[in-house]
Amino acid sequence: MSSESESPTDQLSDVRERHQQAAQELLPEHTDLYIGGEFVAADSGETFDTVDPTTGDVLASVARGDAADVDAAVDAAWTAFDETWSNYSAGRRQRVLTDIADTIEDHVDELARLESLDNGKPVSEAKIDVRGAAEQFRYFAGLVRENPGETMNAGSRYGQVIKEPYGVVGQVIPWNFPLLMASWKLAPALAGGNCSVLKPAEETPLSALRFAELVDDIVPDGVVNIVPGYGEEAGTAVTGHPDVRKVAFTGSTAVGKQVMKSAADTVTDVTLELGGKSPIVVFPDVSVGKAVALVKSAIFYNTGECCEAGSRLFVHEDVADDVLDGLVAAIDDMTIGDPLREETDLGPKVSAEQVDRTLDYLEKARDDGGQFLAGGDRPDDEALSAGCYVEPTLIEGLDHDSDAVQEEIFGPVLSVFRWDDYDEMIRLANDVEYGLAGGVITDDITQANTTARDIEAGYIWINSYHDLVPGLPFGGYKQSGIGRELGSETLDHYQQTKTINLSLR
Ligand code: NDP
Repeated sequence: MSSESESPTDQLSDVRERHQQAAQELLPEHTDLYIGGEFVAADSGETFDTVDPTTGDVLASVARGDAADVDAAVDAAWTAFDETWSNYSAGRRQRVLTDIADTIEDHVDELARLESLDNGKPVSEAKIDVRGAAEQFRYFAGLVRENPGETMNAGSRYGQVIKEPYGVVGQVIPWNFPLLMASWKLAPALAGGNCSVLKPAEETPLSALRFAELVDDIVPDGVVNIVPGYGEEAGTAVTGHPDVRKVAFTGSTAVGKQVMKSAADTVTDVTLELGGKSPIVVFPDVSVGKAVALVKSAIFYNTGECCEAGSRLFVHEDVADDVLDGLVAAIDDMTIGDPLREETDLGPKVSAEQVDRTLDYLEKARDDGGQFLAGGDRPDDEALSAGCYVEPTLIEGLDHDSDAVQEEIFGPVLSVFRWDDYDEMIRLANDVEYGLAGGVITDDITQANTTARDIEAGYIWINSYHDLVPGLPFGGYKQSGIGRELGSETLDHYQQTKTINLSLR
């Protein structure tokens, strides 16, 4: 983990010291709610702790917003909408989004290290998140002016079709890509002319609060409101608020269903980006090295805490032994340790609760007869004992019906299936309730396209994985969600269509 000559105890205290120093340097000045352009304590005066998953130490106490605070945030957002934001021209909104992008880019290292502290993700990956967040604002800044509407001459009528913002939108995000998910929500909402009330996940509220500090001088008061708190308190208040005109949620499918039900009470439009259990298919024509590198990234990137993670491997029988040997060797080579160090490949999971959840699935997999080709537990390394670590794990021999194969583990756990019958492989690849993403690894371009079409999912990578490019829409089939992010159609999710029919008689 650190210098091999150091004892585990010394390594642990090095890590703790590094994290304490980083916390002193990086923690946001304000850990209150951000409402109407001010940092304010929760109405109840309550706070909750956010914990560093590498050390188990409390990083900060954060204001615990609830329904009363969400009411105040929604009011502030409507005031901002009515008095300021709805009067901004498209060009002025575009400048705000561009300035946000510039500001994020000016703080990549700082925001990445803060994210790594609060979430446990390797800092090298956190930098990719932060740059991606800036790109979101830049992409939607580019779309702001692309809103010409339509006109139609129809005999004695002249029709105009225009797009209008909803006004105030409610947005709830998870902990796996905290700042990136905030940008996926805020950038299109603001570009579409809306004000937002956003609730970050309780595990990772810090980067959203630091974002609020950074953009405070750029964004008019009340256009962006950040209300940290618990899902059952602040989250339900945001998604069920009668004055919130559109809800966008990213998280588990179970909570997504509740969000959709509560939105039904007020017939509020909803977009949902939910869970996944994505297949990654290896054909026999590719080099083993290429397959191993892609599969490793598909499952172990961000400690497997990715909705799109390629968590079910379908590897052709002819290359299966070589690919699996290669994966075991690649796992042996991974540097598991302090996420603040550049060389770390795999950091801790976000919380002790998530470790327990992953270990429960590994236990079930063992009971179901899974053979563990690698991993399967916490790492047997005293130097990692304070953190929320789980070993990168490969499991073969499970029935495709078993829980560890069907359900989203959200950890560094890959289930392996060998195939030689294409139709049967595709049947299994599609035999889950999710349909978020998939991967195809082959140099045969015709085969790759056929398989991409055969997999029931909203996003397929051919010979890559995880690279998400603004402009290419991302979202799920089946129970993986409703609506698309990252694309021009995302703007439609944040605007409503008005038709004006003018009689010329
Ligand atoms: P949740 O779906 O519970 O959390 C996502 C967000 O929703 C958080 O901000 C959460 O708040 C909030 N929330 C929770 N309950 C409600 C509610 N009833 N109404 C409105 N908002 C709510 O995910 P978990 O953090 O509990 O993780 C559980 C599992 O969900 C993971 O192991 C993983 O499988 C899956 N997941 C999937 C994600 C994805 O991107 N597909 C992302 C995160 C999790 P709070 O943080 O306070 O709970």
